[in-house]
Amino acid sequence: MSQNLPYVSIVIPVFNEEENIQELLERVTKAASALGKPYEVITINDGSGDGSLAMLRDAALRDPRLMVIDFNRNYGQHAAVFAGFEAARGEIIVTLDADLQNPPEEIGKLVSTMEKGYDVVGSVRQKRKDPLFRKIASKIINKVTSSVTGVKLSDYGCMLRAYRRNVVKTLCSSKEISTFIPVLADMFAGRVTEVPVAHAERARGESKYSLWKLVKLQFDLITSFSLLPLRATMVIGFTTSLLAMAAAAVLIAGRLLFGAAWAVSGIFTLFSAVFFFMGVILFGLGLLGEYTGRIYQEVRRRPRYVIRQVIRNGEAEDAR
Ligand code: UDP
Ligand code: MG
Repeated sequence: MSQNLPYVSIVIPVFNEEENIQELLERVTKAASALGKPYEVITINDGSGDGSLAMLRDAALRDPRLMVIDFNRNYGQHAAVFAGFEAARGEIIVTLDADLQNPPEEIGKLVSTMEKGYDVVGSVRQKRKDPLFRKIASKIINKVTSSVTGVKLSDYGCMLRAYRRNVVKTLCSSKEISTFIPVLADMFAGRVTEVPVAHAERARGESKYSLWKLVKLQFDLITSFSLLPLRATMVIGFTTSLLAMAAAAVLIAGRLLFGAAWAVSGIFTLFSAVFFFMGVILFGLGLLGEYTGRIYQEVRRRPRYVIRQVIRNGEAEDAR
């Protein structure tokens, strides 16, 4: 390992992107060479079932600056980026999507902004080119996330971002299993900024995020970065108890004033109140269960992913 360490590491998660890989590698290589500094490109094959791995492997065997980390199955975009972070040797680490929605040509802008002394440079998609449903979903996710986490960023979903080495190494030492990299990074970083970047339509193939995956992501984001839902349940529980006491007072007063006949029809009020409380209790229980389950997951300290093979410096090495 006598070669120079790379200055920039470019981390790209890949999940069934065979139609995009060739153009991606060409454009990334061109943009990275234009930096005029040593670089490495780390692609992570997140359990693709198509020809992605073969294409990446061929390219990596030809170009020693390209590294491939091959997962044994699909672990999700953030796990893939984490694997890239673990392997990255550069001073500046840039993450990028494989579908060419983040133009690789913007890497230069991110790197030069980093050089002004920032720890993290995020990006805001100008004229975002995604289906309407996806845009609305992201709007909601951005709003909820920034109010819940207190980390103010305008575009969390955009993975075209640059990180300084020490931030990435801190991220790697946070052994939480479900994490959302942009939010976590911004919690650790000293100086954070954002630059506007262009956004393209997905070149080929379709989004790997379904509605369910987005809902899951939002839920993860809220529960892994804040205790707000637990507090909210407490507040809901407390308010309903107060209301129930007021209602009870009214019922008693009615009974005393209008006699027992009035109170019999009050049974239905009672029913509705009981069911309402049952709802609140079940909600609270579910929420507690969610956090407890999360603790259980974290204490097991399972690895985030399993690597099957690594190709680097133009050679394939089996993991372990
Ligand atoms: N991706 C991944 N694992 C997954 C889902 C996505 O590695 O389980 C990668 C995907 O190949 C792409 C990036 O993450 O490089 C972003 O995915 P996508 O473009 O589908 O997301 P969207 O643009 O719809 O947010
Ligand atoms: Mg995309």
